[in-house]
Amino acid sequence: MALLRLPLGAVRTPALAVSAFVVATAIVVAVAAPWLGLPDPDAMAAMPYQSPNAQHWFGTDNFGRDVLSRIVWGTRLALIVAVVSSLASSILGIVLGSISGYFGGWVDGVMSRTFDVFLLIPTFFLVLLIVALFGQGLQYTMVAIALTTWPRSARIMRSQVLSLKSRVYVQAALAAGASHGWVLSRHVVPNGLAPIVTDGTILMGFAILTEAGLSFLGLGDQNAVSWGRMIFEGQRQLRIAPWLSIFPGLALLLLVASLNLLGDGLNQAMNPQLRRQSIRAKGKPPVDLGPPKAEDAGAPILDVRGLKMEYRLPKGAIRAVDGVDFQLPRGGSLGVVGESGCGKSSLGAALLQVMAPNAAYTAGDVSVAGRPILKDGQVVRAGGRDAVMDVRWTRVSIIFQSAMNALNPVLTVRQQLVEAYRLHRPAEDEAAAVARIEDLFDLIGIPRRRMTAYPHELSGGMRQRVMIALSLLHEPDLVIADEPTTALDVLIQDQILGEIDALRRRLGLALILISHDMGAVAETCDRVAVMYAGEIVEIAPTHVIFGDPRHPYTRALMGGLPTVTGPKRPLETLAGEPFTPTGDIVGCRFAPRCAMATDRCRAEAPAPTAVSADHLARCHYALEREAVSA
Ligand code: SF4
Repeated sequence: MALLRLPLGAVRTPALAVSAFVVATAIVVAVAAPWLGLPDPDAMAAMPYQSPNAQHWFGTDNFGRDVLSRIVWGTRLALIVAVVSSLASSILGIVLGSISGYFGGWVDGVMSRTFDVFLLIPTFFLVLLIVALFGQGLQYTMVAIALTTWPRSARIMRSQVLSLKSRVYVQAALAAGASHGWVLSRHVVPNGLAPIVTDGTILMGFAILTEAGLSFLGLGDQNAVSWGRMIFEGQRQLRIAPWLSIFPGLALLLLVASLNLLGDGLNQAMNPQLRRQSIRAKGKPPVDLGPPKAEDAGAPILDVRGLKMEYRLPKGAIRAVDGVDFQLPRGGSLGVVGESGCGKSSLGAALLQVMAPNAAYTAGDVSVAGRPILKDGQVVRAGGRDAVMDVRWTRVSIIFQSAMNALNPVLTVRQQLVEAYRLHRPAEDEAAAVARIEDLFDLIGIPRRRMTAYPHELSGGMRQRVMIALSLLHEPDLVIADEPTTALDVLIQDQILGEIDALRRRLGLALILISHDMGAVAETCDRVAVMYAGEIVEIAPTHVIFGDPRHPYTRALMGGLPTVTGPKRPLETLAGEPFTPTGDIVGCRFAPRCAMATDRCRAEAPAPTAVSADHLARCHYALEREAVSA
């Protein structure tokens, strides 16, 4: 379904809309050719060499055949060649590329070399050879084009499969006993098809050009009406009847250019990396503050004020982060907790400007060590580039949720860490990078010999330690750890969190720990922010949050925690669905699930209430302990 929806998104720019229109028109014309009332394209019924006129819009050729009719029937042939040969080429490429990438080892070695050999041979000359050897029928032309272009699709598919086969869901399917064939066809290939679809469109343009070239050289199907043959026949009468080659030439140019543009558009629509630019352009323009200012030594390491970020979806915007304020002192630690979808991971991404492509800021300021990186919802530029580039990874780094997805499966750990190191310190050589990585491995407890391993050769815990090493590579002041122990077993989770906490204290790091695990946050962080529906609904020192929660949502989260010291009690669960912050919101977002909701709650959104100097709760009744505790 995603593949079907994306092309519609891709035709939103004028160039793409025009190219999609041209291709669609060509298809309609090709299908409807017999019913358009045009003269027989092979009938020599009119006077030869008639220039364009009311009866023959594109004139007639040297045999008195109607040029417009021949172009229309030529469209048919062009599209048949384009569709059949690019489809055959793509299928062959998908099958062989998938096998090569999935099974790896000697299978991949032999197949990759075969792809390389085919790619080295100039395609058109190989097509010429095949057609010259086997014949000039249309079917031979299409087979020849498919046989000479499949390695390109195979290469793309192989890269896709190499990346996809180590994903968690693929491993889970194999662990569950699914066969390799099933996993490949069900979980791997469908997820790697997007670039093949876009490349197939470009391949169609190439196929049309190749067929026209063969016909021009007299190697095409002599019985079919082809644009290439028309151009070939017309170029001999270029002086006396230029329309004979101009009109088919224009048709060829228009269709091939449109297919290429369409391919680019599909690529842009399906590739988040390319889409990011256009989405960024839709948001507020960046604000230029000139050269970067010296940092403010007394400023908190992170200062967030009124931060708002939303996801723009076809059905409307979701306000994932909606007016978040907090300050984190140097060396401080903040746990951000809440249910799935509450906005905590979106907050982490928004702080470092690594959001999803369809996300945009709508308001707020963010400063790192006194340097603004976001102002009034606008990305700050300083010294000719985004200010965040000066702090991302060097002052503030992030540990991503899933180490397997964050590490490139086709590069060794050493290659990835060296690359990340030299990206920010290009003047330093590889030896300096390796020395730093060895120090970090010693610090974190990863054996140095594991540096040459590929991600799939490491255990889940070891991969997550590599991610921690990556985050510490440039000695940052603040680490944002987004669910750093997801998908790890309980013992490893405990070890990793312990190591993060020990490192934080040892290195004087500030830490933001994003987690759904209240226990993990309690052990690791000084302060806790509880998020619900994009807002921080309560923020306070950890012992206060656990000892005297004032928001009913915080209390509900506490109720789900088991206790090992107190009397046994059933764990509480929170009824109802999490609130999705869209459109105009009236009243308290937690009201539909809150046992204490009143008419006031349903009519009036609560503002943050100061329970004490460092304790805020977004509830009308935060100061009424009895009411909240009821
Ligand atoms: S404002 Fe009302 S509905 Fe919202 S959390 Fe407080 S008591 Fe519940």
